[in-house]
Amino acid sequence: MNIRFIALKETFSRRPKAVDSVPKRSEIFEENVFTDERMREYLDEQAYRAFLEAKHKGYGIDRALADRIAAAMKQWAISKGATHYTHWFQPLTGATAEKHDSFLEKLPDGKAIERFTGDQLVQQEPDASSFPSGGLRNTFEARGYTAWDPGSPAFIMGTTLCIPTVFISYNGEALDYKTPLIRSIQFLDKYATETARLFNRDVERVYATLGWEQEYFLVDKALYTSRPDLIMTGRTLLGHAPAKNQQLDDHYFGSIPERVMAFMRDLEIEALKIGIPVKTRHNEVAPNQYEVAPVFEEVNLAVDHNSMMMDLMKKVARRHDFEVLLHEKPFAYINGSGKHNNWSLMTDTGINLLSPGNTPKRNLRFLTFFVNVIKAVNDYEELLRASIASPGNDHRLGANEAPPAIISVFIGHYLTGVMQELKQVTNGKLSPDEKTGLKLEVVGKIPEILRDNTDRNRTSPFAFTGNKFEIRAVGSSANCASPMTILNTIVGHQLKQFLADYRALRDQGLKKDEAIFNILRDYIRQSERILFEGNGYSPEWHAEAARRGLSNLKTTPEALRVIKQERIIRLFEESGVYSRAELESRYQVHLEQYNTKLEIEARVLADLVSNHVEPTVVHYQERLAANLERLKSLFPRNKKMWARNEETLRRLNTAYADLASANALLKEAVARLETMEDEDAKADYITGTVKDLMDRVRAHADRLELMVDDALWPLTKYREMLFTR
Ligand code: ADP
Ligand code: MG
Repeated sequence: MNIRFIALKETFSRRPKAVDSVPKRSEIFEENVFTDERMREYLDEQAYRAFLEAKHKGYGIDRALADRIAAAMKQWAISKGATHYTHWFQPLTGATAEKHDSFLEKLPDGKAIERFTGDQLVQQEPDASSFPSGGLRNTFEARGYTAWDPGSPAFIMGTTLCIPTVFISYNGEALDYKTPLIRSIQFLDKYATETARLFNRDVERVYATLGWEQEYFLVDKALYTSRPDLIMTGRTLLGHAPAKNQQLDDHYFGSIPERVMAFMRDLEIEALKIGIPVKTRHNEVAPNQYEVAPVFEEVNLAVDHNSMMMDLMKKVARRHDFEVLLHEKPFAYINGSGKHNNWSLMTDTGINLLSPGNTPKRNLRFLTFFVNVIKAVNDYEELLRASIASPGNDHRLGANEAPPAIISVFIGHYLTGVMQELKQVTNGKLSPDEKTGLKLEVVGKIPEILRDNTDRNRTSPFAFTGNKFEIRAVGSSANCASPMTILNTIVGHQLKQFLADYRALRDQGLKKDEAIFNILRDYIRQSERILFEGNGYSPEWHAEAARRGLSNLKTTPEALRVIKQERIIRLFEESGVYSRAELESRYQVHLEQYNTKLEIEARVLADLVSNHVEPTVVHYQERLAANLERLKSLFPRNKKMWARNEETLRRLNTAYADLASANALLKEAVARLETMEDEDAKADYITGTVKDLMDRVRAHADRLELMVDDALWPLTKYREMLFTR
């Protein structure tokens, strides 16, 4: 029984599931979210204000207030039909975690009531000893605990009230993605606010904004199920490229198949209900590749929303007989998936600090933040690379796919010119002419809407796009918190340095603008090597980047080692974002994850080849051999009658021998991996040997896919998985 044909048959009967067209956005948006407005309805003015303080300033919530909020949440949740609640958190596994408890509680007299107290809201102890901690939790305190994050509102999924929480050890060490993110937000706020106040005295808070763009693949559920590699590793480990893939560019912005459209509509409705402000949907470059993006939000909330979205996509897809692939490289030979992270800085007074305007004052403020971000990325490019490292993303960043593993900043033609002019600023006091020139010519003329003037360079991993920076190198399955935490931290750190430099020049008697121009000039000179406007995929850039001393960390283990550098540890300790112990634990967790994932991939590949590919080839070989024998006996003296058949068989035999010997080596390597204990040594063995063996095995197997009778081939082919109708 060939499972491939069973699966294919199943897909022939698929029809789009009926979905109501998306109702009016305003009717469903945040329908299932306990928003601030709802909170306000349930709390008195004073309590509500205390909540807002806690939310914005990160203060703890006292027991009395927690009780009141819990009561309010419960009342609202039950009125919406919720029966359970869960602390929803983002452990380092990369998935989200939840443990459901019922509101129901039995009283001593046997009656049941619905109960939800402040304690239950504020703190929970999931039995979390199986979540990765990298050694942070000793056995006597094996239970980390989750604590409510008032910065992100509770929401209802199905019949469960979900409370976004941080996940920490009893010593307060971060065991999740959210805790360091919140710390980085507070750190950045401090120095960004102080800097913004040089220009606007009324600014009291600055927060980062994130607008993510999530790419994904859709594959029919039956076809997905027919591929053991997809099920177990999230990507195909074998498969020949289809004759047609993305050469024609006809998928990008093409019309969306009806079945996919039904899924997207459903997804949009569900997302809006839980408060994810989805906005765009379209096809991506590769066949069956799509994208969903919301309007940008405060970064903590946006990160939660992205995690929620990744969960939701999988759930909704199953209703439509699809499986969502979030892996960075589910199919070889075809574009992978990323997640652009659009990032900017916003004041509580509503100013986008990375948006240029039409007044010199506004533009000096813009340039100050703009140049400081560039300097931060220049000084910590390796760290930014490390923040997006994952086994899946190695297929994009380390390979010949965009964006490259080299971090550079694209700012566009116009701003490049501005940087050149600022570089010439006189040292120290400025002449009246120079001052006027700078203000009117250089700064004053930066057009308000740069967007349209920015030639969009799609090959840059970090691009300025008009009023925000866009990190394009983030992996599609990543938790955005990882790069966002790093960006917030390095920019916060840089602004702290800027403020110190500024005060020093002011003490020397320079006027405000003079001081700022002087500092920006120095920063531009110091960070020029990070600016690159050309083609990031080209081999010339790789050579040029090496000359400029930029890192090119091609594998996750290499990239992870960055967080062990003394300079990086100091950055995090000074900013309070990670302690030394937390960094060490993260290194361990991520390295182990890398090794485990690759070990699984190697085993799955070796097994697939042994159990699926080799027997199929032998089967076909048998047929060809029998056929040859028969032809030879029928036409013993007429070689022309069977010479071709013999050649086909020979080629098949050679390919089989190549495959079998490569796979034997892979199996040996897997056996060796299983005995290795040291994680660093294991990682080196994987990147140095195992990955190459996997590539070799795959190349032989893919060649055989084209040689063997299609009717025998047991694995669903790329062309069958990739063209949903
Ligand atoms: P694309 O990159 O696909 O061409 P856009 O350049 O229009 O798309 O950017 C889209 C993303 O940028 C959206 O997700 C949007 O939310 C986000 N974005 C726009 N302004 C900001 C901002 N100030 N901060 C963060 N993200 C933003
Ligand atoms: Mg984009």
